Amino acid sequence: MQQLAWNRQLVDKYNINGPRYTSYPTALELRSGFANDKVEAALLESDQPLSLYLHIPFCHQLCYYCGCNKVVTRHQDKADRYLTALAQELKLYAPLVAHREKRHLHLGGGTPTFLTSSQLTRLMALLQTELGFSPAQAGEVSIEIDPRSCDKGKLAHLRKLGFNRVSFGVQDFNDEVQIAINRVQPLQRVRSLVNEARALGFASINLDIVYGLPHQTQANFAYTLNTLLSLQPDRVSIFSYAHLPSRFAAQRKIPEEAMLQGAQKQQLLLQAIDALSAAGYQSIGMDHFAKPHDELAVAQRENRMQRNFQGYTTHGSDTLLGLGVSSISQVNGVVWQHVKDLPDYYSRLTDQALPVDKGFSLSRDDRLRGAVISELICHFHVDLAAVAKQWKIDPECYFAAALQQLQPYIEDGLVTIDQHNIQVTRLGQLWVRLICACFDVYQRQGNSFSKVI
Ligand code: SF4
Repeated sequence: MQQLAWNRQLVDKYNINGPRYTSYPTALELRSGFANDKVEAALLESDQPLSLYLHIPFCHQLCYYCGCNKVVTRHQDKADRYLTALAQELKLYAPLVAHREKRHLHLGGGTPTFLTSSQLTRLMALLQTELGFSPAQAGEVSIEIDPRSCDKGKLAHLRKLGFNRVSFGVQDFNDEVQIAINRVQPLQRVRSLVNEARALGFASINLDIVYGLPHQTQANFAYTLNTLLSLQPDRVSIFSYAHLPSRFAAQRKIPEEAMLQGAQKQQLLLQAIDALSAAGYQSIGMDHFAKPHDELAVAQRENRMQRNFQGYTTHGSDTLLGLGVSSISQVNGVVWQHVKDLPDYYSRLTDQALPVDKGFSLSRDDRLRGAVISELICHFHVDLAAVAKQWKIDPECYFAAALQQLQPYIEDGLVTIDQHNIQVTRLGQLWVRLICACFDVYQRQGNSFSKVI
């Protein structure tokens, strides 16, 4: 990216909000009062293998930058209650998915490693008993790890339970930044966990970092990047910090004067792209990097990469069953989200009801636009002739409004287009979310979404 002309005018011009398109339509379009029988029918109607996502909502401590759905608590027994409710939920889903293979599992949160080793054992036993999920026969079995709530013993236990991929939340290695976001985790701890994960044979180690955090500078971010590279992760996720204090109370604890100004934040992104590219990482979609041998990098090169609610994936986007409070599923053209609050979640399960809160069924237009957006965000390219053939449409006619909206991006060199192809340029990749939004008929304005970069 170094060779890209860093264009301040473009940064100012496109300093606007946009969805991350982990789905199309985005989760904001989910409607309340979605009937459980639509969920049941979606699960029963197809026999495609499923990927499982399981949400653990608890965290020991509040990170001030956080915008996730979580419950901060020191009471470990709350997780026992949650696992009991989860067992009830699995019993409700079990007859609906008994005919489907369960291929992958991802534990996210919150903090999945909030669970003790014995609670993790209980959880995996529940998945085996109720859903027949066997890690030994599965593909990816992955977990997000907060280095503060994991030690070598827990890591070894996870490996024994069948986990084969780990993702560590690093965010930044500088003390001043860590203190400002209330997430202090010494480098030595992260380094020893990463080394141990490698020694234990985890197949893929991901590190998350965040740019745009308080007190970050080009100099101290260079330290974070160099340190990160010294740990040799297989994958790196670079997330943009979305500072929305009016929406997330915790973010009000971050002093405004510590926030980055003007184009400083975008400069950090370019710095990260430069450092990772120079170190031989392959750029994956818009904010991920992987070593060329990593299966996500291979999938991208082979045009097999997709996007779902967990981000970039090799698993498919219409076969994801979310479990636990607030989780989102997409199966067979139906999208649904569970209730977000724990008391609601518990009361639904006490009533023996699936804890579905909102949902929608995809129309043909949703699927078509979703397919185009997925191509753009995963591969930065759309083969219009292939779209025309597959969907039996005339793209010029069908997407007339979208093509019109692409004009400014074409004029600014972010997109090229001819009769058969839409291509996002290297510079345009920074704003691919906005380019996708041209095809989004539900586009929303305002602060519902974070800044694109
Ligand atoms: S960033 Fe992660 S660990 Fe921190 S409060 Fe949010 S969910 Fe919990």
